Amino acid sequence: MRVLIAASEAIPYCKTGGLADVSGSLFKELATMNIDVRLIIPLYKGIMNNFPVSDTGVRLVIPMQHRNYQAHLYSDNGVFFVRCDEFFDRDWLYGETEGDFPDNALRFAFFCRTVLEACRLTDYCPDIIHFNDWQTSLIPLYIKTHYQNDKFFRNVVTVLTIHNIGYQGLFKPEIMPLIDIERGLFSPESIEFYGKVNFLKAGILYADIITTVSRRYAEEIITSEYGFGLDGVLKTRKKDIYGIRNGVDYTKWSPSVDTFIAKSYSSNDMRDKAYCKKKLLKDCGFVIKKNIPLISFIGRFASQKGIKLIISTLSRMIEYGCRVVMLGKGDRNLENILIKKASGLTGKLYLKKGFDEKFAHSVYAGSDMVIIPSQYEPCGLVQMIAMKYGTVPVVRRTGGLSDTIEDYNALSDTGTGFLFDSYNASAFFEAIKRAVTVYTHKNRWNKLMQRGMNKDFSWKKSAAEYIELYKKTLSS
Ligand code: ADP
Repeated sequence: MRVLIAASEAIPYCKTGGLADVSGSLFKELATMNIDVRLIIPLYKGIMNNFPVSDTGVRLVIPMQHRNYQAHLYSDNGVFFVRCDEFFDRDWLYGETEGDFPDNALRFAFFCRTVLEACRLTDYCPDIIHFNDWQTSLIPLYIKTHYQNDKFFRNVVTVLTIHNIGYQGLFKPEIMPLIDIERGLFSPESIEFYGKVNFLKAGILYADIITTVSRRYAEEIITSEYGFGLDGVLKTRKKDIYGIRNGVDYTKWSPSVDTFIAKSYSSNDMRDKAYCKKKLLKDCGFVIKKNIPLISFIGRFASQKGIKLIISTLSRMIEYGCRVVMLGKGDRNLENILIKKASGLTGKLYLKKGFDEKFAHSVYAGSDMVIIPSQYEPCGLVQMIAMKYGTVPVVRRTGGLSDTIEDYNALSDTGTGFLFDSYNASAFFEAIKRAVTVYTHKNRWNKLMQRGMNKDFSWKKSAAEYIELYKKTLSS
């Protein structure tokens, strides 16, 4: 079986969030399971300097917007890169702090076209094109329009994975001719969406199969509360929607092999987690004292992640004796509020603004708890990674958080984290208080950490589920 994964980001080459972890890890896992798999992403700035990518010699010419755009196809061990400096040689993937790049529609429509042209020119006819999120969602539409009479793509099955339905790729209708899609498709039955062009809607309507990244999120996105306006369209495809949980790459995310952390440790011997905590307390400028609950947040500063709940709970957490580390970047308003908070809480709240992979490892290892009070969370990797490091998640019961964490039960002394339901600061703080109470009972807390560490969220099972789904779709 030949599988082509198309994505706008993938580890280890480029990453803004979980999508990169998923596309890079799934590619790696499918390859170990003897699938003839390829991955294709844009060649962003910096990739060439840091990885041994080489020019395949294949030239891609894409006529769009009354112009021939050109790209060069590069590769590195089964991973292919579309090089078009005009679109991708930029410091950021999708936009700067001021907002998204104004030519994103053209950039990613172009990328979708190059994915298909690259298949033809390298004579690689995939059985499955597995594409991800809005950036690659025009692929099945181009197959059904530009390539409808092309035998090469006749038997290709397309699979869309929705990683986050909150990001849909919405653009003004004027872009229709620029992206080379006939005007007639700007209709409610096709890619029109409340007066705009919606890339993700194209993926939802024209893919053969749709997956999303946890079972619960697969149910949530067909409701008006979580569907971001696409729930109606998704309902029409309900029988083709599957939930497959993301996995974690434990060759990278495991305290026993992690070279970024102060000292490695495992669930059999966790003494050195205390050392990692001490180091983190020191690095954050906190007074080093025993038994201070150290709470962390790692992620995008976006309203989705419940940053407002965190902001309105920070002082209470600190009054309750906790210290807080926050690592992230994102929405400028939220960043500014956090910067102001942090300046008033020096020595108690440490804010690290930016994307810092190495520091993220130290935070996972050194914290006692990680907080994820998300409004919605398609799957979430942070809680699964944290559990591997014996860092206990305190999360809202939604999406993948609900699928991967079992609420702590004091009577039976079972569970792997602390869940709360209502999206409000008091429900969130109650969950933190529950966690801190258990934290003071060392015996219970150690067992809780160990249960999390012994959970297996590796890619093996999820990749096997994707293979089953590919096979089922190919045979139907
Ligand atoms: P998202 O909604 O952003 O995809 P996930 O929980 O699925 O959230 O994945 C987030 C991934 O990005 C995790 O691997 C997390 O460790 C990493 N991450 C998020 N923000 C940062 C940051 N500021 N610095 C380093 N790593 C980060």
